[in-house]
Amino acid sequence: MEEHNTHCPYCGEPISLLIDCSIPEQHYVEDCQVCCSPILVGVTAGADCQIESVSVRQENE
Ligand SMILES: [Zn+2]
Repeated sequence: MEEHNTHCPYCGEPISLLIDCSIPEQHYVEDCQVCCSPILVGVTAGADCQIESVSVRQENE
């Protein structure tokens, strides 16, 4: 698992995500640690557990 720091798309507060980088592509919902809103997280990872991109967006977008 890799820790990735980003910002909540709702409240803008810094949040940290724990990402299972052994999965090449994944999408999941994680509640913001600050405002508890459901964040849609999309992750792509390459070989050697290298996180290539992380996107966060609001559920209703
Ligand atoms: Zn938030």
